[in-house]
Amino acid sequence: MALSNEQLIAAANEFGTPVYVYEAEKIAEQYNKLTTAFSKTNARFFYACKALTNINILKYVQSLGANIDCVSIYEVRLALKAGFTPDRIMFTPNCVDFEEIVAGKDLGVHVNIDNIPMLEEFGNTFGNSYPICIRLNPHIMAGGNYKISTGHIDSKFGISIHQLRHVERIIESTKLNVVGLHMHTGSEIKDINVFLEGLDVMLDIAKRFPNLTFIDLGSGFKVPYKEDDVATDVDQLGSRVAKIFNDYQKEIGKELEVWFEPGKYLVSECGYFVVKANVIKTTTATVFVGVNSGFNHLIRPMFYEAYHFIENISNLSGPERIYTVVGNICETDTFAWDRKINEVRENDLLVFHNAGAYGFEMSSNFNSRLKPAEVLYLNNKAHLIRKRDTFEDLLKNEIEVL
Ligand SMILES: *Cc1c(COP(=O)(O)O)cnc(C)c1O
Repeated sequence: MALSNEQLIAAANEFGTPVYVYEAEKIAEQYNKLTTAFSKTNARFFYACKALTNINILKYVQSLGANIDCVSIYEVRLALKAGFTPDRIMFTPNCVDFEEIVAGKDLGVHVNIDNIPMLEEFGNTFGNSYPICIRLNPHIMAGGNYKISTGHIDSKFGISIHQLRHVERIIESTKLNVVGLHMHTGSEIKDINVFLEGLDVMLDIAKRFPNLTFIDLGSGFKVPYKEDDVATDVDQLGSRVAKIFNDYQKEIGKELEVWFEPGKYLVSECGYFVVKANVIKTTTATVFVGVNSGFNHLIRPMFYEAYHFIENISNLSGPERIYTVVGNICETDTFAWDRKINEVRENDLLVFHNAGAYGFEMSSNFNSRLKPAEVLYLNNKAHLIRKRDTFEDLLKNEIEVL
């Protein structure tokens, strides 16, 4: 499923550029791939909503029956507003203060604690009166093998598995009721064995927590960005996880749910970012296309050196030329170097693919530019789901004292 160029051009004509355009049905397609792949496991999927939080997207994901993963108390409140009940909300904050954790508890959502001081404070304050999940750092190294290493503990996330004895000590003295264990290594899984090795570590640890009802394996589901890119083989992963869990459940004599937190996998491919070519500028070495956007709207290429496929939908049959695509921000903001794109003329519309996840969500008003509009195609009809900023928005929270 994909939006056609006609649909993208229609959205650009109706709502202007730059504009983010999403296709609802693509999210459903991705969600169905996951539920099908894991149908033999007692699996639940929590949409990691930091990828894209427009309330309409949240409501749509809610309507699919998915759950939601939130990293701030405001995401929790958005999720509630979108119709998720507290039991479908996982709250996984990082380095927040104790009040924010308590606020999650007061809203009745699943609370995931990722450091020892807060675990201790939670236990001292609430004892066993509120079930919690603990975020562990299994120290899985990218590149095909995991390593339980004390030498390379460089992530701020989770409680190191080397601190388990300390965790147990806190649980024993405060009677904390630990019902879930969580890991999220963040890496994009190309090789599902890396993931399975992580699962192995988690299952081993799980035996030390008698009240467990679920294990949350976070995300890591990869989608293709380039044409020859591989996606995570979710079907293969699904059947391997099913086998491992079934064996494990027999061994321990009880059932466990397995939770996942896909962000990108659900919303990356549903999104398109449509911009306009302002100028074609030939310097001594390079042909630049300068577009009416920049890293204020889509920062992934500059921030992560991420690749986004770029297409000129105004001149599909034009000869291919090599361009460097840049933004209009007073800062080096290169979207892509040396890309073959059908000949670009002033006012042509260029489309960035895979723009659903961490696109609009990471946008800003840098250079006092306006955040773009967002449009959702649902049942082949385009809906404006966020107005473009106006000049007044730039001043909205400022207080003039001069
Ligand atoms: C960001 C995040 C995810 C989602 O990661 P993707 O790569 O977008 O799938 C899942 N879980 C947690 C805790 C996260 O912070």
